[in-house]
Amino acid sequence: MPDPVSKPDCLFCKIRDGQIPAAIVYRDERALAFKDIGPKAPVHDLVIPLDHIEALSDADAAHEAVLGHLMLVASRLARESGLADKGFRVVMNSGVGAGQTVFHMHLHVLAGRSFGWPPG
Ligand code: 5GP
Ligand code: ZN
Repeated sequence: MPDPVSKPDCLFCKIRDGQIPAAIVYRDERALAFKDIGPKAPVHDLVIPLDHIEALSDADAAHEAVLGHLMLVASRLARESGLADKGFRVVMNSGVGAGQTVFHMHLHVLAGRSFGWPPG
């Protein structure tokens, strides 16, 4: 398999490469999922593409398949938590204004509590 696209000093690239520890919950040839270090719900996982891409706003047609894949991984994690039937939320913050703080694109998978709408 070719080396994944990387960015030096990217926190999530380092987690992907095992240079920073994380509680890994899923890994395949395109995606990695691990527990959020500051959970905002009883289940709070992050799903990242192995290839570094900063934000959803940087995605193009070449990322179409991996974007769909991230969603399926999110659904799988929610089902495996046993909480999917009660409802879960998948969030992707793109850009500082939306609350993105780590600039390696990621989905948040949140489950195990009720969620308000609209989000803050
Ligand atoms: P964002 O704000 O970019 O949408 O989400 C970044 C998420 O990464 C936050 O929910 C934050 O708690 C999580 N996070 C930040 N640093 C670390 C870390 O070192 N390890 C893990 N597992 N999660 C982190
Ligand atoms: Zn990265």
